[in-house]
Amino acid sequence: MFECQKCGKCCTLFHLFPEGSEPRSTLDSGDGTCRYFDRESRLCTIYDSRPIICNHVKYYDTYLADRMTLDEYETFIKIFCERIRRDDV
Ligand code: SF4
Ligand code: SF4
Repeated sequence: MFECQKCGKCCTLFHLFPEGSEPRSTLDSGDGTCRYFDRESRLCTIYDSRPIICNHVKYYDTYLADRMTLDEYETFIKIFCERIRRDDV
């Protein structure tokens, strides 16, 4: 099971998405950080109603369940998370 360490870094990378694209157009506050990100606590202020892109289990159930197992998807997320935390994205 993937366990997020709550570093908050993946909520600050919307500048990496093409301009005008989803989710950048709805979430980016202007500097790549999500408009719902609390910069002090580094936590999501709308966690229980966060968009599906931020909820990996819901995202998996909706888009990927017929293509791979949740374990496989979580392996991918873990690698991506580790790269984000190393500033390697
Ligand atoms: S980068 Fe990884 S540990 Fe940090 S908030 Fe995102 S998923 Fe969690
Ligand atoms: S909605 Fe919440 S979890 Fe999603 S990027 Fe914004 S702050 Fe992070």
